Amino acid sequence: MLQSLQALLRIKGYQVELATGGAEAIRKLQGGNFSLMLLDLQMPVIDGFEVQRFINEHAVPVEVIVVSGESSFSAVKDALRNGAYDFVRKPYVAEELLAAVGNCLEYHWQTRTLQQAELSLKESERMHRFMVNRSPNFIYTLDPQGIFTYTNDTVEDLLGYRPKELLGRHFSCIIHPHNADEIHRFFSEQRSMSRETEHIEVRLQVNKESDQVRCLDNHELIVELDAFGMYDDQPDGRRKFLGTLGCARDITARKHSEAQISYRAYHDLLTRLPNRILFDDRIQQAFAHARRHQQQFALLFLDLDRFKQINDSLGHAMGDRALQQVSERILGCLRAEDTLCRFGGDEFSLLLPDISCKENVAAVAEKILDAVRLPFLINEHEVRLSLSIGIALYPSAGETRETLLQSADIAMYHVKASGKDGYCFYSDAMSGSNSHFLAVERDMYLALEKEQFEVFFQPKVDPLSHRIIGMEALLRWRHPERGLVFPAEFISIAEESKLIVPLGDWVLRTTCEEIARWQGEGVPKLKISLNISSVQLEQDDFVSNFIGVLQEYGLSGDIFEIEVTEQGLMGSNGELVKKLHALREYGIAVAIDDFGRGYTSLSYLQNFPVNTLKIDRSFVREIDAERNNSCVVDAIAMMAKGLNLHMVAEGVETQLQLAYLRNLGCSEVQGYLYGKALPAQDTFNMLASRPIDGPHFIFPD
Ligand code: C2E
Ligand code: MG
Ligand code: MG
Repeated sequence: MLQSLQALLRIKGYQVELATGGAEAIRKLQGGNFSLMLLDLQMPVIDGFEVQRFINEHAVPVEVIVVSGESSFSAVKDALRNGAYDFVRKPYVAEELLAAVGNCLEYHWQTRTLQQAELSLKESERMHRFMVNRSPNFIYTLDPQGIFTYTNDTVEDLLGYRPKELLGRHFSCIIHPHNADEIHRFFSEQRSMSRETEHIEVRLQVNKESDQVRCLDNHELIVELDAFGMYDDQPDGRRKFLGTLGCARDITARKHSEAQISYRAYHDLLTRLPNRILFDDRIQQAFAHARRHQQQFALLFLDLDRFKQINDSLGHAMGDRALQQVSERILGCLRAEDTLCRFGGDEFSLLLPDISCKENVAAVAEKILDAVRLPFLINEHEVRLSLSIGIALYPSAGETRETLLQSADIAMYHVKASGKDGYCFYSDAMSGSNSHFLAVERDMYLALEKEQFEVFFQPKVDPLSHRIIGMEALLRWRHPERGLVFPAEFISIAEESKLIVPLGDWVLRTTCEEIARWQGEGVPKLKISLNISSVQLEQDDFVSNFIGVLQEYGLSGDIFEIEVTEQGLMGSNGELVKKLHALREYGIAVAIDDFGRGYTSLSYLQNFPVNTLKIDRSFVREIDAERNNSCVVDAIAMMAKGLNLHMVAEGVETQLQLAYLRNLGCSEVQGYLYGKALPAQDTFNMLASRPIDGPHFIFPD
């Protein structure tokens, strides 16, 4: 029967294999890939039910048609319940059997295909889910009311919410308050329009409770949001809005670096203040605003006083800290609409828009000055600073950016010149005829800060032994463009602007430093002459300061002599006499410089504690061979003798002048004949090269 069945099926094109008995059937099922099994229920040892059990237990993908002589209804029912597809009674009718086989295989292929499809659908869903969850982007869906219906796992990394936590919540819970309005518009649009993709940048708020989030700062995440409306096409042709599918890409890092780049372009990184470029922009705005509303605004120039000293004594790092602290203090005095900017170095500028009167600006300036005067604590050092502030008002001090800046600058230097630590409004009187004066004054101020000054030394010689007995310290300005500038060009301006006070102090310190060095190198004791301006002498603390500096360098007073001009002594009061006495007590000698020039009253010579008269070089020049005398020089020599004062001469250029002065009893001589003023190092070298005994200069007879 088996053979005829096989023959029948083969005729129909099926591939058929035979198994005699349940055991062989099971073995073949294990090995092969069958679509259909014609199974007898009644078999010895292992019957058809057991084969079915095997099929079910191992989920063998094979259909079963029971072919059995078994006529009991219940056995057939059991077989069908066990999963058999159909039942064909034995002996079978060929057509009947072939029809059953055909149907069954048809069914088999259909279910297989379906299963396959289901499987691949599942697979593809799994794959998509995987992709969505592995996506670095935050992917979500919202219902028409804006409630989250799905979010991928990435949301946890980005926003610190687990997907579950967001489901059922309205999208607004993750929107940064700054973006609330625009984002709402963005989401609402979805409903009104049959819209395509939209694309915006928004800030999302992260879950503050989560420590999972790796956003950069401020608990915010900047994303680029793409959203699609999801619609269902209705039978009536309308589209029903189902919700939104969105994808948010984290662009925080990009935004931050973009922000940093533009921040760097417009800010000073040390103080985080706007730089010149941003400041210019603000000035333009201030102009536009002030013109439109016919208002005033103020431009202030602020410059730290003596900042270089801080830098030099404490180092640049501390100087930087000081600048930061100063800028913070200034900011503390300002309104939100004011702009403070660092122009570089220790220069700041400040824009005060919308000011009603000058007094308001003055009040701000005073507030700033007070704030900066309070001591600063920089790395445990207490540092005291002050500012000089120049103020230019629009429109009175200028109607363009350039003129205003220039006016504020001029006003600022005016403050510097008149003692610093203050403020001053620009006035027209400061420019014009005065402008050369101001330019020099400003340059000189900068020169002091930049250490462009130098002290030169000119020898003072004993005309009998030709030995150097002293040096006069003479100031020089090594100008970066103009070269070496002599005192005639700047001392009077420095005196007028009082810049001579810090300048003179600098000369004193520099000279002391040099002399102390020479002494350390074994140079024999020399008398050191310093020129002191009357403006310096007028300072209350002149004497204490002077002596203080000598002590600082460990130098005794008796090697110093100050040279004061007649003008310096004229019209002065009892205070000056006291000061000169105090200096004398400390061993410091006093000489009257340029003696004989234009002053008639000589009574001061009796009143002042003076040691020496230094004949002005214009009289020395008059000594010539022709007349073989010089009235003025003779007269001065007599006067010196009468008053018991030393007489010294400057500007000695010839042997004749030298001989003449020596005969008159001149004890010290200075002039090109012996040598011009030289830089400190050259002077030192010269001193070192001269003999210890014997003359320093030898002239041919
Ligand atoms: P002074 O105190 O009368 O200085 C002497 C000036 O004569 C110096 O000019 C010196 O270089 C110059 N001189 C010296 N020997 C000769 C010579 O043989 N022939 C000629 N023609 N000139 C000679 P310098 O250095 O240009 O100084 C000019 C003035 O500037 C000084 O006159 C002094 O009053 C003032 N000065 C210089 N340094 C200082 C300073 O540190 N402080 C103050 N307050 N004034 C200073
Ligand atoms: Mg002098
Ligand atoms: Mg002189």
